[in-house]
Amino acid sequence: MVEDSHPFPVYLPPLDIRRLYDAFDTPVTDVDCGQMCAPHNPAGVPFCCDICHAVPPAYRQEWDYVSTVTDLWHEWRGDECAAEPVDPASLREQTPAHMRLLACLGAPRCRRAFRLLSCRQFPFFPYITADDRFIGLAYFWDFSAQCWVIHNLERVTDDFRRAFVATYDYIFSIWQEEYEAYADTSEEMRRYFAARRRRIPILHRNGRNYLLSPASERLRRIDRFTTAPVG
Ligand code: SF4
Ligand code: SF4
Repeated sequence: MVEDSHPFPVYLPPLDIRRLYDAFDTPVTDVDCGQMCAPHNPAGVPFCCDICHAVPPAYRQEWDYVSTVTDLWHEWRGDECAAEPVDPASLREQTPAHMRLLACLGAPRCRRAFRLLSCRQFPFFPYITADDRFIGLAYFWDFSAQCWVIHNLERVTDDFRRAFVATYDYIFSIWQEEYEAYADTSEEMRRYFAARRRRIPILHRNGRNYLLSPASERLRRIDRFTTAPVG
C-alpha cells in the first residue's frame, strides 16, 4: 500500500464507475490510433500506454472499484519504467488529492473493460473558459510530439465527442472540485498558447471545430485543423 500524501479529508461524491465506463467506451477515432503511434515508440506500444511516458491518474472512486474487480491495476511505485525509475513522491506532490496514480499490466495485457477514464478520454480534457463554461475538448499539449490523434483531430468521431461531453457534464454536475481542477488546466493551456502566440484547437460540444484565442477566448470556426500542434 502506498502512503497517502494528502492527510486532509477530500470530498468524493459517489460515482457508479461501472456505469461511467460502460457509457464512455467509444474509440477516439475510426481507426485504432494505437496502431498509428506505437511504431514510432521504441518500446513498440502506444505512447499513452507506456508507463515511461504517462502515469495514468484515476479518481479514488475508480481505484476503489478496479482494485476489487481486476488485477489489471496497481498503485504506481515509480519503478515500473525500468529504463528510468523515479521517486514517486515527486509526481504525487503534483497530483490532486482526489486522484491516485496507477500503473497497469501493460498494453499487451490491457483489458478494455477496466480502462480508467483517463485511458478513455486521452488525449483530451474538458476545456473550461475563463467565464466558466465547459465548451468542449482540448488536448493535453505536452503529448503533441507523440500522439497521432493530436495531429489528426478531424478523425475524432462524433460518437466519441458526444460520450466525452456527456461523461463530464455528469461528473461536473455533482463534483465542483473536479470542474475547478479542469478550469485550472484550461487556464494553464491559455497561458502556454498565449506565450507562443498560438490559438487553441477546440472540438466544441456543438459538434463543430474552432480555434480559440487564448487572450480573448474568441472562437473562429474552421473546417479543418491545418496548423501543426503546439506542445
Ligand atoms: S491516444 Fe495518442 S498516444 Fe494514445 S494510442 Fe492514440 S495516438 Fe497513441
Ligand atoms: S489499461 Fe489499457 S488503455 Fe489504459 S494505460 Fe493500460 S494498456 Fe493503456
